Amino acid sequence: MNKMLAIAIAASILTSCNNSNEKEDSKPATDILASNLDSTVRPGDDFFMYANGGWIKRTPIPDAESSWGIAYLVQEEIYNRLRKINENAVNEKGAAGSISQKIGDFWKSGMDTVSIEKAGITPLNNDMKAIEGITDPGSLTSVMASLHRKGISGMFSNYVGQDDKNSEVMAFKLDQGGLGMPNRDYYFNTDERTVNVRAAYKKYMLQTLAQIMQDSASARKAADEVYALETRLAKSSRKLADLRDPYKNYNKMSWDALSKSAPNFDWKQYAKITGTSVVDTVIVGQPEFYSTLSNEIRSTPLPVWKNYLKLRLIQSSASYLDSKTYSDYFEYRKTLTGAKEPRVRWKRVLDAEENAIGEALGQLFVKEYFNETAKKRYNDIVENIREAYRERISRLDWMSDSTKQKAYEKLSRITRKVGYPDKWKDFSKLSIDAGPWILNIQRANEWWHEYDVNKLGKPVDRSEWSMTPQTYNAYYNPSNNEIVMPAGIFAVPGYRDEDLDDALVYGYAAASTVGHEITHGFDDQGRQYDAEGNLKNWWTEKDEEEFNKRASAIIKQFNEFNPVDTLHINGNATQGENIADLGGMLLGLDAFKKTEAYKKNEKIGGLTQLQRYFLGYALGWMYQDRKEQLARLVMTDVHSPAKERVNGPVVNVAEFYEAFDIKPGDKMYRPDSLRVKIW
Ligand SMILES: [Zn+2]
Repeated sequence: MNKMLAIAIAASILTSCNNSNEKEDSKPATDILASNLDSTVRPGDDFFMYANGGWIKRTPIPDAESSWGIAYLVQEEIYNRLRKINENAVNEKGAAGSISQKIGDFWKSGMDTVSIEKAGITPLNNDMKAIEGITDPGSLTSVMASLHRKGISGMFSNYVGQDDKNSEVMAFKLDQGGLGMPNRDYYFNTDERTVNVRAAYKKYMLQTLAQIMQDSASARKAADEVYALETRLAKSSRKLADLRDPYKNYNKMSWDALSKSAPNFDWKQYAKITGTSVVDTVIVGQPEFYSTLSNEIRSTPLPVWKNYLKLRLIQSSASYLDSKTYSDYFEYRKTLTGAKEPRVRWKRVLDAEENAIGEALGQLFVKEYFNETAKKRYNDIVENIREAYRERISRLDWMSDSTKQKAYEKLSRITRKVGYPDKWKDFSKLSIDAGPWILNIQRANEWWHEYDVNKLGKPVDRSEWSMTPQTYNAYYNPSNNEIVMPAGIFAVPGYRDEDLDDALVYGYAAASTVGHEITHGFDDQGRQYDAEGNLKNWWTEKDEEEFNKRASAIIKQFNEFNPVDTLHINGNATQGENIADLGGMLLGLDAFKKTEAYKKNEKIGGLTQLQRYFLGYALGWMYQDRKEQLARLVMTDVHSPAKERVNGPVVNVAEFYEAFDIKPGDKMYRPDSLRVKIW
């Protein structure tokens, strides 16, 4: 239940080669904030376009991408750095089993397109045979379990995580899942864009089944049957906004109780094969989904289930197989993201490597690219934000004193993780060789499965990181009451950290990352977890009521935004993130006002300190999206799109009006009575 910062880097990013080293050697001559402005737009009309429009106008989205913006530019630098690390590893020819051997072989197996083309989908033969061998619900269960071990999705989702009600214990969690499209809405929405995605998905199912079946008539029949099965599972799945309530999505039960409520799936056998039988209870997110699944296991003929599993297997593996298998899949993906062509191969290999052994790469990465001075700067910023939040809470007129005391306690105990972990994961038991690539991927998935399952029944390791140091992202984890900010999130492309002025950094990182993440511990979801990380609400009913009253104003504000076609933002589903953006902006500002830079108030690049603060914030959301992608984000993401993440919160902040001299009559102007005030 990490609340990720809003970047839609779907575990992968970008294109175009720049030489990042050249940039690093000399101080950049231009001020990044001044050079991204669009001076033809008035800040009071559309602040996002004023701040980022110059860059947007001169920067087309590359054909291989569905979005383009700051995270991708940072990622571009990171890609180039990682590529060098990989190429060095290949040349080094490290001893068998060494990190360098694994990185080098992973890279080689992914780049070896000759072998990949020759093999086609044959590396999946053993898995295909296992699926073909299913004869009854029992063998269906065992095959599903061994596919789950290898990271092949199907039927439902499972993961190991802290027990929400007892953060000292790791639990095995079962959620709804098993769909071929991103979520239930894709099966039922009737707008044109979704209808197109459905058509492309059905076409993809048909092509894939035709590849492995004797004749086209049986492939067509099989595709229809599998689609109907998925639709029934989708119908029984909860909607995005209904997944927000941690109590309703927490249903602890024994394996026996689960076996009683979903009797047609052999849970005992599943637990044995997945290595999860060490725990006697599981946490089921959506019990009604499991009843449906169980009924389907009885009522859907086994041949349909077999075709369903074959599809899941090929769809999950498509990115690592031959070009025909991949391009069929990519044609469908296009309708979801709008990207016109696949990302270049070496970047796709790095994306996969990031998922498989990212921390091994990260170890080499930070050695070269995140120094002690930078680490200290951001550690200090976290403490300044913590103090600003304490002061803000003390001034709240709607929160009771008893709740305030608990808030101070929780705030003071938030663990800060900045840059990279103190202790690295040990990949020595993972075997990586020169190919086939897909089998390296499967073994890595199995390593991660073992790694997670091994946590069951053991004390929680609170020093662990769930993101690699080179990631452009951050999270708050309520079960550990911690904020985690990898080195990558602080990077501004083309600039060294010491070249960045405080106003920019407080807007870009302190507000949109540190402040944003810290408020997650106190919002409608985070407040349900106490200082120890247990699901135990520490607010009074009256405080909740007051908070909800204020939250309803931000729900209303965001419901009005209409980023694409007829789609409006779902103010309810995105409220937690919108509140965090607004809170983060205020906290960053409070902390910034205490810096020497703010007090001196010198202009840089012709911009005042206050202007630079808000522009630094907007730089963090400098993105443009294709319409397909924007629609997908609005339907599936609990974050608002980039533009609204800037224009939404700023209009609630008094200093914004002051900084850009915005007056009644300007488009962005909101009278004080309409401004949302929460933190
Ligand atoms: Zn967030």
